[in-house]
Amino acid sequence: MAIYVNRVLNMKQIKVIGFDMDHTLVRYHSDTFEELTFNEAIKKLKNDLDYPVDIDHFSFNFKDAIRGLVVDKENGNILKVSLYNKIKNSYHGSKKLNYKEQQKTYLGSSIDLGDPRYLSVDTNFSIAFTIIFSQLVDLKDKKPQLELPSYAELADHALYAVDIAHRDGSLKEEVKANLEKYIIKDEKIVKALERFKKYGKKLWIVTNSGYAYTKALLDYTINPFLKEHQDWTELFEVTVTLAAKPRFFSDKLSFLKVDEKTGMLENYDKKVIPGIYQGGYAPKLQKDMGYLGSEILYLGDHIYGDILKLKKTCDWRTALVIEELDSEVKAYKDTKYISIEIDKLMEKKTALEAELDDLYAKEHELNEQIDKTIVNKKFDEVVAIDKELAKHIKEYESHFNEKWGEVMRAGAEPSVYAHQIEKYACIYMNNIADFYDHSPRMYFRPSKRKLAHEI
Ligand code: IMP
Ligand code: MG
Repeated sequence: MAIYVNRVLNMKQIKVIGFDMDHTLVRYHSDTFEELTFNEAIKKLKNDLDYPVDIDHFSFNFKDAIRGLVVDKENGNILKVSLYNKIKNSYHGSKKLNYKEQQKTYLGSSIDLGDPRYLSVDTNFSIAFTIIFSQLVDLKDKKPQLELPSYAELADHALYAVDIAHRDGSLKEEVKANLEKYIIKDEKIVKALERFKKYGKKLWIVTNSGYAYTKALLDYTINPFLKEHQDWTELFEVTVTLAAKPRFFSDKLSFLKVDEKTGMLENYDKKVIPGIYQGGYAPKLQKDMGYLGSEILYLGDHIYGDILKLKKTCDWRTALVIEELDSEVKAYKDTKYISIEIDKLMEKKTALEAELDDLYAKEHELNEQIDKTIVNKKFDEVVAIDKELAKHIKEYESHFNEKWGEVMRAGAEPSVYAHQIEKYACIYMNNIADFYDHSPRMYFRPSKRKLAHEI
């Protein structure tokens, strides 16, 4: 499948390819994993934070949230936002807000994403959180007698519950015990990795997961498909576990050496050499291994933790893996016929608006009386077109996520998520296996971007 290009990237100049693990090197059955997270987090809310048993009735539907949404903690709302930070679609809990309700809360409908009350849903690991939050908001509104805390506290509690589930082993033990249920085996990924090695590329892993979990997942997904190596540890020159990204890219955290057999840790303040580590920081890794930033390509799935921070602090090249991309591209192709209809209707509408402008010009500039019946008829035609347009847009969006529409667009504009991708990811793709369809010497070039006056 395709690799999409935002910035020129000559793979011949890339000597090291670094990989994030979860959702990049290792693919998840995200719906099953997020359902597990959802259930574990609900247990934590009840057991650790004394939430009422009413939350046992919460139900999980993976499609209730998509990546790129923005959670407004204070108002209990979930928003879809365009690149200009304009709200294009919004829900209070799981209730859709109409335009008037949205305007009432957000006035100009433009928001400051730097405000800490807003949280971005930028990894697939945030889907469960978003769904729990929306249902907590519903419950608070529906049953005031439960005296649930403020919306902002509900968000903090849901975040806490998901965070603990990730950190205390409840998710990881279950995944390790049922790998098949949660983890996708993908031979093409291993083929792509071994092919990179044939071209002399060094491979690294930089993951926020701990060593035991990393080993369990890579033993399962990589080892069975290796043709020219015995074990994944031979494939990767350096593996950094518990990397604490994004801080890994900016803070001087210390390296620990991991014993591959026992997982035992040892302080390590010498030069970084090939091996397995815990923690550390990117500039030292790069310097000790003797590479320029422009010779390293790092692939991750987290636009903030893997890509945006890296781009701002190191000068490594970047690639983003977006697991929704294939279905998004397919839906985009399947809806071409609707887009054509929408364009035709817009042309008609623009012509009618121009006719109305001409009529009003007569009134304003030539002091001529205009026939109101003609004007009203034209206005009625515009309204009818708007209705048609709304129908088509609804049909168009139903090919994507039923509730939220496209991941990459908010209305006619790119979504804020798509905008970050354009700005920070040199290339992006659905799956790192897509590299197998391209030469490791490929010169990726973006197509010429059209400006408004060039279209
Ligand atoms: P990576 O994508 O390979 O860097 O690893 C992601 C790691 O972060 C996995 O071990 C996840 O379980 C973990 N993780 C994801 N979300 C959270 C969270 O909210 N709190 C703590 N850990 C998280
Ligand atoms: Mg990841």
